Amino acid sequence: MHELGIMQNIVDTVQNYAKENNIKEVSKVILEIGTISGVVPEALEFCFDVCINDTVLEGAKLEIDKVAAVGQCKECEEKFELIENNFSCPVCGGDNWDMISGRELIIKGLEVI
Ligand SMILES: [Zn+2]
Repeated sequence: MHELGIMQNIVDTVQNYAKENNIKEVSKVILEIGTISGVVPEALEFCFDVCINDTVLEGAKLEIDKVAAVGQCKECEEKFELIENNFSCPVCGGDNWDMISGRELIIKGLEVI
């Protein structure tokens, strides 16, 4: 389960940030996760509860904002949701596109006490 390593990194990052900014308690962590980032949100939630024990994040809530996977067609420049359209452009049928979003795995925000 690679989510555990990912979550450990996230928790470490938040802990370092809290230390540098003299934050005693974090009440919420907001993550932004692309729908094709390859991580399972439910698994991240589980790992979060494990990783925050005995840290400034203990008792904090995890909020996950899912980001749709969007590509832009290189032929006709149409932007489209990749999964819904089976990774082909709905306008010209092309499968040559640039990734606009969907692979995000970032800490979007924190709420502190
Ligand atoms: Zn197209």
